[in-house]
Amino acid sequence: MNLKPHKTANAPYTLDRFDGFPDAAERKGDAHLCSLSKALEHPNVQLMTNTKVLRLNTNEAGDTVTEVVIEQNGETKTLTAELVVLSAGAINSAAVLLESKSEKFPNGLANSSDQVGRNYMFHQNSALVAIYTEPNPTKFGKTFGVNDFYHANKGYEYPLGHIQMLGKSDEHQIKADSPVPAPGFTFELMAKHAVDFWLTSEDLPDPENRVTVENGQIKISYTPNNQEGHGYLKEELIKALKASGKFDSFLFKGIYFSKGMDIASPAHQNGTTKMGTDPATSVVDTYCKAHDLNNLYIVDGGFFVSSGAVNPALTIIAMALRVGEYIKNNVLKS
Ligand SMILES: Cc1cc2nc3c(=O)[nH]c(=O)nc-3n(C[C@H](O)[C@H](O)[C@H](O)COP(=O)(O)OP(=O)(O)OC[C@H]3O[C@@H](n4cnc5c(N)ncnc54)[C@H](O)[C@@H]3O)c2cc1C
Repeated sequence: MNLKPHKTANAPYTLDRFDGFPDAAERKGDAHLCSLSKALEHPNVQLMTNTKVLRLNTNEAGDTVTEVVIEQNGETKTLTAELVVLSAGAINSAAVLLESKSEKFPNGLANSSDQVGRNYMFHQNSALVAIYTEPNPTKFGKTFGVNDFYHANKGYEYPLGHIQMLGKSDEHQIKADSPVPAPGFTFELMAKHAVDFWLTSEDLPDPENRVTVENGQIKISYTPNNQEGHGYLKEELIKALKASGKFDSFLFKGIYFSKGMDIASPAHQNGTTKMGTDPATSVVDTYCKAHDLNNLYIVDGGFFVSSGAVNPALTIIAMALRVGEYIKNNVLKS
């Protein structure tokens, strides 16, 4: 089914935040607006909705993907292609590969290294809400970041990480994360004064932190690391806020809510099909081609070898553009 790009400049509502929400009025520079709608202008591009990739099949030699098995509106179909790019995100790409096991590949496709699904990372992330003495009327707050504590800092020998603003919180979010019960108007007042931060520290690759599939269910096994550095990062932010004298009012004396993002928050998922030059220890080569296959590219957060401590999307976008250019100039031409 073709989905035509829709122009809804006169959408009847205006979002008061973008974080995690699509904007039908198309004012948000998301994947739909910046790339999907542009791609769909080409007559040879088709978007299939309500469609899930179940598995990839190979030729008898096992070196070329020949079929993509999909489920569309409850019906199983098979597509064929000369070149396949798998971009289902770090968790789901790994799951598709693991589900593509066969007699020839009992551990899943592209997995001779046994690295598919391993080294799952999603950052040490925390939201920290500080209550400012003045009301904070900000709507689209995510335009400011601080890397002053990115590297080793204040006697701690490892990097701490990155601080940026978070989309503006409201009374419902503050109520949900409040350690103490209070009447609704208190949360409303706090939300009015809230300044919202997002803290990110590196998540280190650990082969035991991994995506597996058991009886068709995706399972994530994860033991956190680098939590000490993340704790110091939080301390540095709170110290700086206190030093400003603007976050310790009579009304809101030193109120800082902080919520760490756990395994249920896979927003920054990466690392499960790691890149490398050695097929024995990595899944894809430096152009995201699966070492084991001639015509399979895996281009999403999976290629990360380490996660750094900044948001992943720009790196994923840069790699997608780089690999696209490579395929256009080197693979499709040959
Ligand atoms: C609320 C939120 C806020 C974020 N904010 C930021 C930010 O400010 N900055 C930043 O850099 N990053 C941010 N991120 C992270 C960023 O969105 C991801 O890093 C990025 O989108 C990952 O790109 P990807 O190509 O790996 O996967 P995705 O963008 O997740 O794309 C994977 C696609 O594959 C589809 N798919 C999955 N499985 C299948 C299947 N079996 N068959 C068919 N299709 C499938 C999915 O539906 C999806 O469309 C945020 C994430 C969230 C959730």
